[in-house]
Order: sequence, then C-alpha cells, then structure tokens
Amino acid sequence: MIEAYPFLAPDFQSKEPKELSLLSIVSQSFFQPFSVDDNLLVIMTALTSGSGVGFNRAMLFRADGDKLRGGKWLGPRSPEEARMIWEVLSTPGLGYLEIIEHNRWLLSRDADAMTGKIAPLEFSLARDNLTIPVTAVAKNELLLVREASREPLVDPRFLQAIGVDEFLCVPLLAQGEVLGEIVLDNAFSRKRIEPKDVKLAGLCGLMAANYIYTATLHQRMVEMERMAALGEMAMFITHQIRNPLTAMGGFTDQLLNAPADEAKRRRNLEIIRREIRRLENVVYELAHFLKVDPSRRPEPFDLKRELRAVLQEMEPRAAAEGREIRADIDDLLPPVLGDPIAVGEVLRNLIVNAFEASPAGSRIEVAAERRDAAWVSVSVKDAGHGISPEARARLFSPFFTTKERGMGLGLLYVKRVMDACGGTIEVESEAGRGTTFRLAFRSREEGRAEA
Ligand code: ADP
Ligand code: MG
Repeated sequence: MIEAYPFLAPDFQSKEPKELSLLSIVSQSFFQPFSVDDNLLVIMTALTSGSGVGFNRAMLFRADGDKLRGGKWLGPRSPEEARMIWEVLSTPGLGYLEIIEHNRWLLSRDADAMTGKIAPLEFSLARDNLTIPVTAVAKNELLLVREASREPLVDPRFLQAIGVDEFLCVPLLAQGEVLGEIVLDNAFSRKRIEPKDVKLAGLCGLMAANYIYTATLHQRMVEMERMAALGEMAMFITHQIRNPLTAMGGFTDQLLNAPADEAKRRRNLEIIRREIRRLENVVYELAHFLKVDPSRRPEPFDLKRELRAVLQEMEPRAAAEGREIRADIDDLLPPVLGDPIAVGEVLRNLIVNAFEASPAGSRIEVAAERRDAAWVSVSVKDAGHGISPEARARLFSPFFTTKERGMGLGLLYVKRVMDACGGTIEVESEAGRGTTFRLAFRSREEGRAEA
C-alpha cells in the first residue's frame, strides 16, 4: 500500500505538539516566495508566538561586511497578545501571506519603540569578538546569559537596549560565514529560559542560517548570470553593428571628399544600402526574438497547413540555392497546441539553418507524423557538416553562432517557442554526416484530456 501526504497537513498546527508546529512553520516559510526579510520575520514570529513554547521577543542582527548591525525587533507586548499571535499563526488554512501582513503590522506598530532601540547598535565582528552579543557568532555557540548586569562581557549599550537580565544569543552561521544573530528573551513573562527552549531555538537558528545562506547565494548567482548575459549581449551587438557602421562611414567619406564618376558613386551607395539592410536585419531579429510571450496560452491549430505554407514559401529559395526539400507530412495529423505564427517561424529557422549547414545539391528532409495519442513529431534533417560536441553544448545559448554573420538567436527562439507551447526539441548530429532537429508538439487530444 502506498499513502501520499502533503508536507503540511491542514490540521497539523492545531493537534501536534507546539514544538513540532513551530519547526513546521519555520521550515515551510522558506518555501514561500517572499523576500529574505519577510521570511526572517516569519521565523521571528514563530519563535515569539508561543504560549507555553517560545520566547517573548526576538531581536535580529544581520552581518554586513565586518559589522554586526541591529535589524528588527519583534515580539508581543503582553501574554494576551502572545496568545493572540499564536492563534493567528495556528489558524488552520491560514496562509503565509496573512502571517506576513500581520508581521508588517506588528513591525510598523513597534517601529519606533523596539526596533528603534536596536537599529543604532553596531559591532565590529573582528574587534568586539569578546563582547556579547558578538561572542556568540565569533565562537559559533549558543550563549545563554543570566544576570546579565553582572557580566562584564555584555556590551553596556546592548544591555541598556534590551533591558532584561536573561537572554539567549543564537548565532546564524553557514559554511563558516557569519550571517547574523538572533537574540531571544522573555521580557514580559519573566519565565526562565530552559534547556529545552535553547535546543529549539538552536534548531530554528540552524534552519534560519541555512536559509539566509541559500537565499543570498541564489541572489548572487542570479545577479552574476544577469551581468554575464548583459555583457555577452553588449559585446555581440557591438560586434554586429561595428562592421556595417565602419563600411558606411568609409564609403560616405569617399563620396563627400573626392569627386567620383557616376559608376563609383552608385557602387558606394549600393554598399551603403546593403549595410543598412544588414543593420535593419539585426534590429529585426532582436525585436522578433524578444516577442515570444511564454505566458500566452497555446491554442490548437492546424500544423499540417502551417507546415505546407512554410514549405511552399521556402521552395523558391531552395531552388535558387540548389537544395532540394523533401516533405513527408502525414495526412492525418491532429491539431497541435501552440502559436501558429511562432511555429511557422520555428520551422523557417530550422530549414534556413539546414540550408546554411549543407552543400549545394544536397537534400533536406522535413517529416511530420503522429507519434502517439498525445504527441506529434516534426523533424528537419540535413546532410550537412554536423555539429561538434562543443557547439552542441552551447546551441541554445543566446548569441551562440559559428557563422561570420550569424546572430545566434535562431535556436534560442526555437527553444523558447517550444517551451511556451509545452513541447520539446531534440538534436541528433554526427560530424560530417548531418543533423536532425526533432520537435514534439502536444496534440489537441492530449490538451483535452488534461482539461
Ligand atoms: P545562427 O544561425 O544565427 O548562427 P542559430 O541559433 O540558428 O544561430 O544556430 C546557432 C548555431 O548552431 C549555428 O551557428 C551553427 O553552428 C549551429 N547549427 C544550427 N543548426 C545547424 C545544422 N542544421 N547543422 C549544423 N549546425 C547547426
Ligand atoms: Mg539560424
């Protein structure tokens, strides 16, 4: 027998022990698509929402370079409020959106009172490492401080801000990197912090540190990818427009500076016009490429008709360039899902690539058949020079081209269109023997079955 369960059962929070509920809330919040700050707030709320478990207040410090800086301070102001927050948190079916709303409200209310007190606090991770609260992150240890006013190691400004004699420092570290610290206390209930509270806080601290670490890493990666793509695009466009511009500049200068006979004038103007066309084409391809809208819902359309139209349109070019296109299109093709105009463009791209890869006199085979009840496959096969393993790995990357005047956007466009209509694309290629691109479209029957 096999039983399937959701990660968080709807009744989980009300029936289970509160410790489990707390851990559940904390770990679930990491999977919510909220900002790091909002998710940290959920953790702090969970840590302070208890009646019976948890603390009264949570104070967050974030590491910033060599500094540990005061961030947010959250907590109910009375036992009644603590109970109310717990009620809110453990209401079955309550979403994280509400919890976050609630948190923002708590924070805005406390903005000047509590957070205002710790925001100015700032410590040096290197120099203040013997001072509490920094010691906890310096040693990566949970520190439970009782009778704080008698402890010379506790920083006096910190002690004044927190205003209690007992608190727990939870360091947030991941992979040896200091990310921050959470300080917990029971300012209102004056309840003694017990070893079991320390254990639970430690677990939450580990999860929070791991979460901040992954989230920050992810942010850095996205940023790096964006910068790399931007750099690549700038370099590529520079390269694409530099040659035509240089040519146009040179030939225009000639016309302006030296008297020329009619034939030379005409030749120069023709070159200039050709280069302008080239630039127009660059702009067209870029604009066209940016037009794919992945959020558009794919509609059923007649693939057979679209294929025939594209083949008919390519025929004269094939003849002019000495290529034969052989089509083998199943007459009983069912409608497929996609955007017919984009799919037409996809086929044009694949056929043009096949032309460009194969010698004059060779044949390009386009076939379409129903693969099974759910899928229709279309293939474009050439007997050209094939694709090297290195090129293959980069085929769908933006601006990857092996052609002198290529844009390297064709296959990326093809991939985006196929992704947008829920289809797939596969390549089979052997150096020197040819290449086959295989597309799979979802057929309408499949679309119906899903609906
Ligand atoms: P472009 O055609 O502008 O170079 P594409 O994205 O259409 O850009 O293609 C990227 C690269 O993939 C081409 O430069 C070529 O190296 C390779 N390629 C694509 N189709 C084929 C094919 N049928 N045979 C061999 N190589 C191909
Ligand atoms: Mg191309």
